[in-house]
Amino acid sequence: MTNWREIEKKYYMPTFQRMPVVLVRGQGARVWDDNGREYLDFIGGLAVNSLGHCHPVVAKALAKQGRTLTQTSNLLYSVPQLQLAELLVKNSCFDKAFICNSGTEANEGAVKLARRYGKLHLDGAYEVITTFNSFHGRTLAMTAATAQKKFQEPYTPLPSGFVNVEANSIAAIRDATNKRTCAVMLEPIQAEGGVNVPSEDYLKKVRQWCDRKDILLILDEVQTGMGRLGSLFGYQLYGIEPDIVTLAKGMGGGVPIGAFLCKKKADVFKVGEHGSTFGGNPLVCAVAYAVTKYIIENDVPGNARRVGGYLGSRLAKLKAKHRSIVDVRGQGLLWAVEFKEDMAEEIMLRCIEKGLLINKLKPNAIRLIPPLIITKGDVDEAVGILGKVLAGEAK
Ligand SMILES: *Cc1c(COP(=O)(O)O)cnc(C)c1O
Repeated sequence: MTNWREIEKKYYMPTFQRMPVVLVRGQGARVWDDNGREYLDFIGGLAVNSLGHCHPVVAKALAKQGRTLTQTSNLLYSVPQLQLAELLVKNSCFDKAFICNSGTEANEGAVKLARRYGKLHLDGAYEVITTFNSFHGRTLAMTAATAQKKFQEPYTPLPSGFVNVEANSIAAIRDATNKRTCAVMLEPIQAEGGVNVPSEDYLKKVRQWCDRKDILLILDEVQTGMGRLGSLFGYQLYGIEPDIVTLAKGMGGGVPIGAFLCKKKADVFKVGEHGSTFGGNPLVCAVAYAVTKYIIENDVPGNARRVGGYLGSRLAKLKAKHRSIVDVRGQGLLWAVEFKEDMAEEIMLRCIEKGLLINKLKPNAIRLIPPLIITKGDVDEAVGILGKVLAGEAK
């Protein structure tokens, strides 16, 4: 059998710490490796496979659009792009959309939009306030926005215009606001940074502060959006409306796509001020349209809320039973389990042996981000495996 690990070592830049599994096939919440072994997938393409793997809706839209039209360039009108934009706008609090290729790119676009707003309405203000332990992407500018040393240090000097402040502190945002500030950019729940759930009134207070200073609030919902937290968008849970939202991961059900949406107030791009060759192409938009429509029409966020609540309660019971767990936190189908010691690697590997894929979030924490279509039975199976691993049971 081909040794893909050796081939990776020889030909691929070594930026990823790979899990020791070569996946070759997926169906629903199940995946299979090159030995034919089955796993329950609680990584879901890193919160991407919202409808699971190879959902008929995704497969059908991909095949149909693949036979129809895949790329036109944005010099021409594109039907799937406009259908998707209309669907997103009609099901959100926003007025306009721009479709791009990834979460990072969506955030870049959102920051560019905020800078245009600053130039036009805030006397040239350009600074964007972001929080420690956030994650906004891997381009140089989004690395500057992502306030985590490990991502920033290898690439200094970073683009200017970002101010990193303490998370979950309205005082920190107030202190950092000045006449150069054009926006605050936050994740409703910091996902990559640890699944950090803010205090209940934090986002409301940030919203009020932004209103008072007439600066924009950008919510990065690349991971939390499209049903992950149990509502179509995370902002709905916190009773606020941002001026700009960014989306990606789950919206394409597995195809690479991102988007940013804005309110009329922030709809300030003019012809030529932003663009993309692939962004919003018919192929990915047809799939994302089908996925988004399915999510809305079948109340997939409701399933994430119900099954996610169940997952949370099962994890709480696990914590009560195992002293190695010090914290369980999350919302919908985004959960982290934190351990007393740096044992996440070992737990992840032992879960793999027992047929469960989970994400090592930090040396001392794992993250559970399964497809949004999982059942309570899937939760029982996953938590059962985790419980056995924590109890140190043999294979
Ligand atoms: C994953 C993620 C990104 C980056 O998205 P890419 O598609 O990898 O560029 C940005 N923000 C958040 C909150 C994310 O979870």
